[in-house]
Amino acid sequence: MHDCCIVGGGVIGLSIAWELARRGRTVSVVSCDALRHGASWAAAGIFPAQPQDTLTKLRGTPIERLTQYSDRLHRQWAESLLEETGINNGFHRCGSLAIAITEETNSDILTSVEKWKRLQVKHEPISLKDLRQLEPALNSGFMADHLRSAYYLPNETQVRPPRHLKALREACLRRGVEIVDDVRVQNFTFDSGRIVTMNIEGRNVARCSMHAAQFCIAAGAWSEDLLQKLNLNVPTRPWRGQILLHKTDPGLLRHIINIGSGLDYIIPRDDGHLLVGSTIEDVGFDVSTTPLSLDRLSTIAGELFPDLMSRQPKDFWAGLRPGSPDGLPTIGPVPAVDNAWLATGHYRSGFHLSTGTAHLIADSMCGISTELQMDFFSAERAGLAESTSLVS
Ligand SMILES: Cc1cc2nc3c(=O)[nH]c(=O)nc-3n(C[C@H](O)[C@H](O)[C@H](O)COP(=O)(O)OP(=O)(O)OC[C@H]3O[C@@H](n4cnc5c(N)ncnc54)[C@H](O)[C@@H]3O)c2cc1C
Repeated sequence: MHDCCIVGGGVIGLSIAWELARRGRTVSVVSCDALRHGASWAAAGIFPAQPQDTLTKLRGTPIERLTQYSDRLHRQWAESLLEETGINNGFHRCGSLAIAITEETNSDILTSVEKWKRLQVKHEPISLKDLRQLEPALNSGFMADHLRSAYYLPNETQVRPPRHLKALREACLRRGVEIVDDVRVQNFTFDSGRIVTMNIEGRNVARCSMHAAQFCIAAGAWSEDLLQKLNLNVPTRPWRGQILLHKTDPGLLRHIINIGSGLDYIIPRDDGHLLVGSTIEDVGFDVSTTPLSLDRLSTIAGELFPDLMSRQPKDFWAGLRPGSPDGLPTIGPVPAVDNAWLATGHYRSGFHLSTGTAHLIADSMCGISTELQMDFFSAERAGLAESTSLVS
């Protein structure tokens, strides 16, 4: 019997497990499939630029404060993960260029500029000439014909999700966390308002139940069914995102390129890999890629980088983001069950928010008052369960 059992081995579940293990708790993590099927492995790993000053207090709405809080923790986490496991998660403040090449993306950028000003995020408008200097490989002709505006944001950051997950798993194992893969949690048995047993099913497991003093559901897009078994209605819907991977010469591109507000983007890795993303599709639990979406991503890449026009992508994949009705994650205790918590619905920001989420949940599970107010993310917040339309 462990102190804590986490359902879900994506970035949210593993981050919570590591944070609890670092606080001396014994922890198990159960996960129903290999890492590649969840949202986390598929993610791009962009952390949007945040206010630079680490000494001043957090600014803006509760979700903006959680984002800044998480962002500040990421550097420390990258260092600790490297120290504990020898794995470099690719944390790199590479900066980004936000470019508008249509009227629509120009108006998206103007909205972003308002937000950057309000939160004091470092940004500066740049000319076509500056853009060419910063990124000589960008298609000059296309830019000259289509560029409406461009901004440089020095604090945008990236990590490499598969490496971060590998590091987290390794760090968890080294701290004695038991990770049980290929096991599906079916339901729970209760006594006096507490979970006593979690019933599991899996081909390679001898046991059919697990016990712990505390439980946390971090099952991404699959959380809704499990939470209903805890008498809680928290709608989570999968939103598919597809990504295309090219291999180029290292250094071809140095900054993340965000088109408009960043729904479409190109991310350069230091070894020359370029990720082109992404789509937002409401297609249920279907993780297949589609020729139509991959063609669209190829066109985006080819327009900006003529070199990529003639190349076949090295790989492509899809993942399912966990959406919520109001676009916010749900983080906190499960109201009707004394020893259960949940962390889900992180949608497009789960990687970025994973550190802050892990701190909040671990504090709450350890009975410590949390650094940020959690009520705003609670399962009982106004309208969450009643809302019928899920964010797109
Ligand atoms: C294409 C794409 C690009 C993205 N880019 C970014 C980005 O740049 N920055 C960013 O911050 N975020 C990004 N995201 C979003 C981010 O990936 C997600 O918000 C985050 O990974 C969610 O993590 P999770 O742990 O909640 O879910 P998941 O990674 O999906 O993990 C859920 C886990 O729960 C397990 N599970 C489910 N049901 C059960 C059950 N019954 N029993 C046992 N285990 C169960 C699954 O096996 C899985 O391990 C992107 C997502 C996609 C798809």
